[in-house]
Amino acid sequence: MQATLIHGRRSALDIASLRNQSGRLRAVVLWLVFLIIVVGSRVGAGSAQAALPQPSDDVSSWFEAFKSDATDEELYRFLYAMPKGGDLHNHLSGSILSEWFYELALAQSKRGYRYYTRVTINNCRPYGGNAFVENPYLMLFVNVQESNYEKLSTCEKEEYLPLDELNPQEKEAWLDSLRLDKAHEGRDEFFQTHWQRMGDLYLNPYLAADALVLNMQAFGAEGLMYMESMIGVLGFIGAQGQSIPPDVVAQIYRERLQDADALATGVEVRLQVAILRFLPGANEHLRYLYDFVSRHNDLFVAVNMVGREDNDKGYPLRFLDTLRDLRRTYNNVRLSIHAGEVDEPNDHVRDTLLLGADRIGHGINLITDPDTMRLMRNGAYLVEINLVSNLLLQYVSDYSQHPFPEYLRTDIPVALSTDDRGMWDSNLTDEFFVAVKEFNLSWDEILLLSRNSIEHGFLPKTTKTQLLVRYTTRIEDFARQIAARPSAALSSTAQSYGFICDRYQLCEW
Ligand SMILES: [Zn+2]
Repeated sequence: MQATLIHGRRSALDIASLRNQSGRLRAVVLWLVFLIIVVGSRVGAGSAQAALPQPSDDVSSWFEAFKSDATDEELYRFLYAMPKGGDLHNHLSGSILSEWFYELALAQSKRGYRYYTRVTINNCRPYGGNAFVENPYLMLFVNVQESNYEKLSTCEKEEYLPLDELNPQEKEAWLDSLRLDKAHEGRDEFFQTHWQRMGDLYLNPYLAADALVLNMQAFGAEGLMYMESMIGVLGFIGAQGQSIPPDVVAQIYRERLQDADALATGVEVRLQVAILRFLPGANEHLRYLYDFVSRHNDLFVAVNMVGREDNDKGYPLRFLDTLRDLRRTYNNVRLSIHAGEVDEPNDHVRDTLLLGADRIGHGINLITDPDTMRLMRNGAYLVEINLVSNLLLQYVSDYSQHPFPEYLRTDIPVALSTDDRGMWDSNLTDEFFVAVKEFNLSWDEILLLSRNSIEHGFLPKTTKTQLLVRYTTRIEDFARQIAARPSAALSSTAQSYGFICDRYQLCEW
């Protein structure tokens, strides 16, 4: 494109020097008009469409040529259409896009649920209250369901509006209150306000089950085949405020996954439960959930540990004795544990492997522990990489600091995942896009990431084998399309969200 424009400028100078030679002027002017039309049409189409490399049976070489020639939009359309493996690290509650949350909450009226959100603060509480509780008073857009709304004082009730009565400005602010969409928002906004605001919204198992299916549909549309989601089972309430026991919650999820719209996605699903690692009762929660997973092992496969790691009360070895005790009895519970999602160098990844984890969530500071890195090379333990999350939560300030390429290219097993994509306003294609753009992934590396994300899933052997066969068939079909007609490999229905729009200006499709 640049070469063409320079050529165009030279042509204009040529014309100036020929201005007095009237015999040739007309021909030159005609040539210039032709040039303007040609250049103009290429400028107009340039951002949307560069010339794709010629078809080739050698997909790896074709992909190298494609990366160097393609516009960002073409690369995104390609990666969106590309079959992918699994997403091994996503928190269902954080995976719900704000717009989905709003619609899901309103739709729950059919089950008798009605939600209210705090739109103003009227100083209803006396001085001296505790501002550090799970649901602090001085926070807007905290959500409660009707049974809890009715328990509020008259003064506090006036701070709330039913979700379906928000005016456009309030609704926009409500949507934004559950995602990191402003420059000043980062780790504290995420850990200290998002989950607290969500409040009762997520304590409805029917809403959670519907959100799971929405994710299956959206991920399925971008070529995903397997989802392993962390999902809640404790503390759920019915429309009248009555408690719903975890076993009933499990059954609600199980039945929802058998509905036609869920099955139609073709996305295989397994679930994990998670403990908040720094709570006083975390070891008791671990015991309860370990037993729960064991009893619901057809659908629930693992226990995870979440919560900010810079809270020392959640250090990994706190759970070693409990896990050793549990392993004396239970034989079917797997562990995938967040570790190394922290700024300081420490031994969290090493200690977490000692806990028995087969997968490490994030593993950012593994790079500071050379002994453990050496042990993990060509090893059995996978690091779940969340590129969008790590940037937005400021564990890296730019991608040149991210250890992902070091792990990938020193043969430490890795896969890409989305973490809390609802709060990042992103999807799995974004993770691949960032990886290709920032770290120049090869075609073989892309295939390795997808295969890893199935091979390291907590699935029965036969299901895993079937998924790998399906993935291989789909990616080979995709490669055949590229070989025959590259333009056919670009998705016409790609969809991106706020993250990729803000950072890479890919907004309209
Ligand atoms: Zn996570």
